[in-house]
Amino acid sequence: MTARTQWKEAVTAVEQAASILVVTHVSPDGDAIGSLLGLAVALRERGKKVAAAVDGGVPEFLKFLPGAKTVRDKLKQGRWDVMVSVDASDEERTGACGAFGRARSRLVINLDHHLTNTDFGDIFLVMPEAVSATEIVYRWLVEMQHPISQPVATALLAGLVTDTMGFRTQNVTAETFSIVQALMAAGAPLAEVTARALVAKPYSSIELWKRVLPSVRLDDGIISAWITQDDLAAAGIKDVTDGGLVSLLASVEDAKIAVVFKQKPDGAVEISLRSKPGFDIGQVALELGGGGHAQASGATIPGPLEAAAARVMPLLAGVVR
Ligand code: 5GP
Ligand code: MN
Repeated sequence: MTARTQWKEAVTAVEQAASILVVTHVSPDGDAIGSLLGLAVALRERGKKVAAAVDGGVPEFLKFLPGAKTVRDKLKQGRWDVMVSVDASDEERTGACGAFGRARSRLVINLDHHLTNTDFGDIFLVMPEAVSATEIVYRWLVEMQHPISQPVATALLAGLVTDTMGFRTQNVTAETFSIVQALMAAGAPLAEVTARALVAKPYSSIELWKRVLPSVRLDDGIISAWITQDDLAAAGIKDVTDGGLVSLLASVEDAKIAVVFKQKPDGAVEISLRSKPGFDIGQVALELGGGGHAQASGATIPGPLEAAAARVMPLLAGVVR
C-alpha cells in the first residue's frame, strides 16, 4: 500500500483512551521490540494504562531495552479501548496476542512500514518510506508533543539501527539522521544499542554456520543455504534461525539475492530473503504468503526443504533476470 498517515485520528484515539494494548509481530526483531517498548513506555509516561505483548516474549538479546520486563508473552484476560499493532504487515503476523487483543479492543491502529501491509485495522499510520517502525512511533510522539525520554529514545533507536543494518540500507536519508540526532540528544546510547541489538551473536550461531556453510551454493546471482532441524539441534539452538547467515551471504559480491531455507519442527520451511538494491524480493515473499521489504523479506511455506527450494528458486530467478 502507499503511505497513509492519519496522525490527527491516531492522536485523538490515544488521548481519549484509558487502556491501550500494544502488540507486534511474532519472531520479534529489534524494530518490533523497539517500537513496542518505545510506544508502550511513552504512553505510560502520558498516564495511560498500557499492556504490551508478543507471543514468546522479548528475545534474550533485546532484554536490555527499557521496559522489556513489562512485556507479556501471552494474553489471557483484559479489555482495551485501543490496540496498536506495530511493525506487523498483516493480522496473522501478530500471532495469538494480536488475535486476542483484536477481539477485545474497540479500535485498532495499524502502525507499520512494510510495503506489503494489508490495510487491516481502523486507523492507519503506514509509511513504507520509513526506515523502521520506530521512526513512525517517533513521528507520532512528535505529533502528540510528547517529550522523548531517555528510555523511549533508546528503544526507538534500536529499531532504526537494526532495520537499517547500522544505517547501511538504501532508504537511509539525511532525515533519518535528524531523528537519530534527536534520540541521541535525549540520551540514547548509539554504540551500546548497535553492539547489543545488531552485532552481538551467541556462539551457537557460529556452530550453526560451521555445519551449514557446506550447503551454500551460488548460481546465476542467487546464493542459497539450507538449515535442517538436525543442524539446529547439533548447534544447541531451540528456535528456527539462521544466526544472521542470510546477511553474510548477501554481502557476497556476485550475489544479487540471498536465500536461506530453514526447516521448522513441523516440517514447514521458513525462508529468509535479502537482495541488492534494484532486485525486489518483497513481492516474491508476498506471493509466497509472507511479506517484508524490497531488500529484506520472508515467508513460511510447506516442506519438505527440496520442494520449498524447487518452488522458490524459479521465482528468484525471475527477479534476477
Ligand atoms: P527475516 O529474514 O529477518 O526473518 O525477515 C526479514 C523481513 O521479512 C522482516 O521485515 C520480516 O518482518 C519479514 N518477514 C519474514 N517472515 C515473514 C512472514 O512470514 N510474513 C511476513 N508478512 N513478513 C515476514
Ligand atoms: Mn521493521
